This record gives sequence, C-alpha cells and structure tokens, in this order.
Amino acid sequence: MPLEKHFIIVTIDGGAAAGKSSTARALSERHHLLYVDTGSFYRAVTLYLLKRGLTPEDTEGIAEALRDPAIATRLRGREARIALDGEVPDAELRSREVNEQVSRFASLGMVREFLLDYQRGHAGFARENGFDGLVMEGRDIGSVIFPDADFRFFLEADPEARNQRRVHQGEQDSIAERDRLDTQRKTAPLVCPEGATRINTTQLSLNEVISRVSEIIDNPRS
Ligand code: C5P
Repeated sequence: MPLEKHFIIVTIDGGAAAGKSSTARALSERHHLLYVDTGSFYRAVTLYLLKRGLTPEDTEGIAEALRDPAIATRLRGREARIALDGEVPDAELRSREVNEQVSRFASLGMVREFLLDYQRGHAGFARENGFDGLVMEGRDIGSVIFPDADFRFFLEADPEARNQRRVHQGEQDSIAERDRLDTQRKTAPLVCPEGATRINTTQLSLNEVISRVSEIIDNPRS
C-alpha cells in the first residue's frame, strides 16, 4: 500500500515587501499547499475596526467590536480568504489608510489573541480541502503560530529593494514605519524564528528564491 503523504506546514516570516507573498503563492502551486496570507487577516481586522470609527487607543471599543463578529474562511483557488463581516477586496485591504494603521492595531494583544486560533485552524481547513499541507506567511508564524512547523523560513531584503517593489506594485506603503512597529511591539514581535532558514532576497530573482526554498522542502535532510 502506498504510504500516505505527510501533511506539511511551511512558515514564511519577514518584514514588509521582503518577497513573502510571491514566494508563498508559488510554493502553494508547486507543493499543492493551502496559501495563507496572515497580513490580510490583520488588514481585514483593521478595516473592520476603522469602519466602526475606532482607533488603536479605543481599547474598550475594540474589545466590544471583537467580542462576537462573524468570521469565516473562503477558499479562492489555493488561497484561504478571511471573511470578517463578509469578504473584502484586496484594493480595500491594501489602501493607504490600512497600510498606515495596520501595525498599530496589530500591536494590541487583544487583536492578536482574536486571530490566534483562527490562524491555527487553517491546518484543519487545509486537510478538509484535500491539500498536502499549508504555507502561511506573516511576522510571527514560525515563532508563535506554528513553532513546530516542518519548514520555517525568514526572508529579508535591503530597504531600497523593498521600496522599489512597492513602487512597482503601485502601492503607497509605510514599510520602514511598519517594520519598526512590528519589530518593537511587546506581543509576538517580528523576529527570525528559531531554526528558520534565513534568505536575503535583495540580489535574487523570484525564481531563485523559490528554488532555494523548494529544494529544502524536497530534501528535508540535506
Ligand atoms: O504582510 P502584510 O504586510 O500585509 O502585513 C500587514 C501588517 O499586519 C504587518 O505590518 C503587521 O503589522 C501585521 N501582521 C502581524 N503579524 C502577522 C502578519 C501581519 O502583525 N503574522
């Protein structure tokens, strides 16, 4: 009888515009994994709170708003999309206002707590939907969400290269400010997880990054 294929969890952490999303999307194709972009979860929560007129300082209002909202996951191709009071298009999730505010809301313990089990639940969601595993990207995935993941990666790139990527994407982003807040926050700061493979993507093409990561997944003991 053929051995059942091992379900794998791959985590990709790193600062803004380090190349995480493109790499994770390609890996999801190549290894038949569910693709989970946790940045979009924090963006959806940010938008949800902004629409209710809340600021990161309104801790009581945030606690109330996050008490019992309708939260679900929709499968779009290989991607898990959050539906928080409904699904929101990427253009709204990546608006200038959300870019400016997301790291402030993400630094709050209650916001992180709200998303903790939801994120971990994606392993079950991937199994139920017949995937061979999942690839989840973010800031604390290999350190907090799945510290025992089969494969952990940490991507980094020089600030100049990262700014250029956002310019190419036509997006106005506060990369340096977000990284500063994400690195300095008390709860689940952006760090290179223990045991993670560090890859500097500044001088690498996307295909080179994908090859390096895939080689490690295909030859786990090499
Ligand atoms: O990945 P992306 O740049 O879309 O993430 C938006 C913001 O969400 C990050 O700057 C960070 O503040 C927050 N985030 C986080 N933890 C994660 C993923 C994203 O705090 N795992």
